[in-house]
Amino acid sequence: MDNNNLGLYLKALDSANSGIIITDNSLPDNPIIYCNKAFEKITGYSHKEIIGHNCRFLQMKDRNQPERAILKKHIEEGTESRVEIRNYKKNGDLFWNELYISPVKNENGKITNFIGVQNDITDRKKAEQDLREEKASVEKKVDERTRELQENEAFLSSIIQTVRESLLVLDPDFRVISVNSYFLKTFKVTEEETVGKVLYELGNHQWDIEALREMLIKILPTNNPVIDFEVDHDFPYIGRKLMLLNAYRIEFDGQYKDNILLAIEDITDKRDIDRRKDDFLSIASHELKTPLTTIKTLVQLLERRLDKGIDEKFKSTLHKVSVNIERLNNLINELLDTSKIHSGNIEINRQPFDINKLIHETVDNSLYNVSSSHRIEIKGKTNAIVEGDEIKISQVLNNIVSNAVKYSPGADKIEILLGNVGNFVKISVKDFGVGIDYDDKSKIFERFFRVKDVQQKFSGLGIGLYVSQEIIKMHGGTIWVESELGSGSVFSFTLPILKNEEK
Ligand code: ADP
Repeated sequence: MDNNNLGLYLKALDSANSGIIITDNSLPDNPIIYCNKAFEKITGYSHKEIIGHNCRFLQMKDRNQPERAILKKHIEEGTESRVEIRNYKKNGDLFWNELYISPVKNENGKITNFIGVQNDITDRKKAEQDLREEKASVEKKVDERTRELQENEAFLSSIIQTVRESLLVLDPDFRVISVNSYFLKTFKVTEEETVGKVLYELGNHQWDIEALREMLIKILPTNNPVIDFEVDHDFPYIGRKLMLLNAYRIEFDGQYKDNILLAIEDITDKRDIDRRKDDFLSIASHELKTPLTTIKTLVQLLERRLDKGIDEKFKSTLHKVSVNIERLNNLINELLDTSKIHSGNIEINRQPFDINKLIHETVDNSLYNVSSSHRIEIKGKTNAIVEGDEIKISQVLNNIVSNAVKYSPGADKIEILLGNVGNFVKISVKDFGVGIDYDDKSKIFERFFRVKDVQQKFSGLGIGLYVSQEIIKMHGGTIWVESELGSGSVFSFTLPILKNEEK
């Protein structure tokens, strides 16, 4: 190599980005005899501070790195090596050195020099480290989330296991994939007898019911749930029971998604209690009514006798007794009707009658008319003939008008509006009383429902409107209310017209 070329090569080495050194292996302790500019830059040492030193000065006190042993071994064996090692700059700053060492041998195979190429890979290491930390933190989060999910699942499963309702998860072929312990307890079966079996095969095919099959088959394709489907069946081990079935497609993500959740509630006791309550109502009403009827007849007898010129005060007191007995009588009738309606035993005696006449008679003979706290004004008229039970329709009007009086203590009149609307006759009762909150409007027709604020101030059982609605329904009409809280209410009902009488 001539000198010109050498200069060129050294220049080339100086413009490299990698730090390059050459050591002389023939000298004691293998000292550095050459370094390029990049090596000075990476290490922060100057040329003169480098030449003559063994490379180990770059490790400072950090001498227990396993990479050192690797380097040592390769140097002794005279082979190439590549390591990533922690080195320190002159100012003490750590830098990661990607170090490549290659031996140079003479013609006898003896190592004369080593060439070392270094790259500062601190940034790369840091990026790797950041990546590792990021990965670890993501893994930690995943672990936490998994644990949370497992906890949630355990929590949900513990709820499912403790609810007093039988729950089954079915796959799209109606095979049981999961069952809660209440189901097993209720039907006195084991998990082995249940899981993996098709629903319809369970317990002697007790769920193999055509109507249920038809409904379940539609759940997944149409998303139509099965709601309150009653199964009255003589079950093996537990006997005759009434079960209420609800089934839904499972929408939430997770292992059960797009399967079917089937909830089975045993309502046998509930039905029995309902039945018992109705029996009680009907017996109690009858028991109360018998002596009351006797009292009523006796008082009427007395009243007739007293007609013959007896003290007026005495007479009016007796009349009040009579009025109160009538009130009690109506109440008991309502109770009786409630239980009859609930058990489907109410009878309607259908006969054509003049509704105009009935309205007037009802108002004239009513208790509230006698009490005269409110003026009852009848506006409009109809010549409609309606087919139905006069007594029951009169009872409906009485209910509504006595409510109108009761719930408008500050007012002095009630209006009854009468007229034909298409094929129906419409009767409206308007009061100027307390009114009804929007949310309560649909509920007041339910059995035993009474508006909360009203309960303490006004007496009542919450059955009048229920009975009225049922009676109107049976006559093919509808009943509804329009109301404004604080301004009053208008209760209306319609009845189909049989014919309009010529007048
Ligand atoms: P009751 O009057 O015996 O409580 P009802 O079935 O006749 O039972 O009425 C149900 C509820 O509807 C009443 O408790 C009351 O809260 C409400 N309600 C009925 N009529 C009126 C009315 N005219 N004005 C305001 N609230 C009424």
